[in-house]
Amino acid sequence: MESSVLVIGGGIAGLTVTHELAKLGIKVELVEKEPFLGGHAIQLTCKATESCAKCGACMVQEKLSNVICNENIIIHTGANLERISKNGRFIYNIQLNQNGTDKSKCTDYSSSADAVVMATGFEPFNPVKKPYGYKVFKNVITNLELEGILKINGNAVRPSDGAPPDKIAFIQCVGSRDSKLNHLWCSKICCASALRMARVIKTRKPETSVTFFYIDIQGSGKDFEALYEKAREDFRMIRAIPGDIYKTEDDRIKTSFFDCLSKKNIEEVYDMIVLSVAMIPGQGTKKLAEILGIIPCDTGFVGSCENNDIAGAGGVFVAGTAGGPLSIAESITHAVKTAWDVVKYIKTRDQGAKGSRGQEDYGD
Ligand code: SF4
Ligand code: SF4
Repeated sequence: MESSVLVIGGGIAGLTVTHELAKLGIKVELVEKEPFLGGHAIQLTCKATESCAKCGACMVQEKLSNVICNENIIIHTGANLERISKNGRFIYNIQLNQNGTDKSKCTDYSSSADAVVMATGFEPFNPVKKPYGYKVFKNVITNLELEGILKINGNAVRPSDGAPPDKIAFIQCVGSRDSKLNHLWCSKICCASALRMARVIKTRKPETSVTFFYIDIQGSGKDFEALYEKAREDFRMIRAIPGDIYKTEDDRIKTSFFDCLSKKNIEEVYDMIVLSVAMIPGQGTKKLAEILGIIPCDTGFVGSCENNDIAGAGGVFVAGTAGGPLSIAESITHAVKTAWDVVKYIKTRDQGAKGSRGQEDYGD
């Protein structure tokens, strides 16, 4: 029987692991709950200014074209894994719903695989319960919503009236590094992503005033230091967590913060506020972990930790941000490694099976 793998999640990691396995001649079924592939990455904007900002957003297009029309890959979008069991191979049942949310139009589909890859990704933290007026004031948006605005309009515009903002504030670490939420982790991508979006906005409308409220600035890659250095020249970087947010009579947003230098509480008004929200474990990851009998880590992600050892020993593997926060480039690297781990697992298992058959043949 041909080797086959079930990949759950069609974001950047799922697409990468699927293509890597298919290149090696392994049949892959890729299951995505949304009606489209590409995950969060497909919604990100290009952040090039004078040159490529190396944000990785365009990599998803390349990964998409790799998997579409590949004869080793079957793609199910708008599909959910309903049941899975293991009896040598994994036997699974998928509910296909190409017609939206109407459950009566779902069809069931069953198949089997040698291994399963969880590439269920992350969810953006919903900041409604934070005191920043999200979903109360139209001009308070998340970083992912700003990505979408930049992608569609080419520059920042206020959701309330479509006008370009003159004064923007970014609030970093919303839902990350937050002991009250027990979200102690750094989400890794939001500093670089916000700094790059601010650079795009400033390049396209140089008179825009940009302020960053931050606890810490984190980023990786050799270009990050230069990005941060330039940000300190062009943007106001204020190490403070702003207080509650209010709307002014002229439809702007007022907030206050404690200024460490003057030791005073300062009030400021902005046209738009962008919340850099945390990457948190997705519902899809939680549900799948439950179906597969995997205990998530204390963070809720399913990377290897004290609670579990998802190193593929049982044929279940993790790729990308289902295991914890990663950038696009890191997700790709992680997914490529996962593909090799899967191949190693299948080979070792097949060799073991041949060995035991050999023993049976020569046994008595
Ligand atoms: S890596 Fe990012 S900045 Fe560079 S071309 Fe691609 S999308 Fe644009
Ligand atoms: S990357 Fe920056 S904004 Fe995001 S959690 Fe880490 S320090 Fe906070």
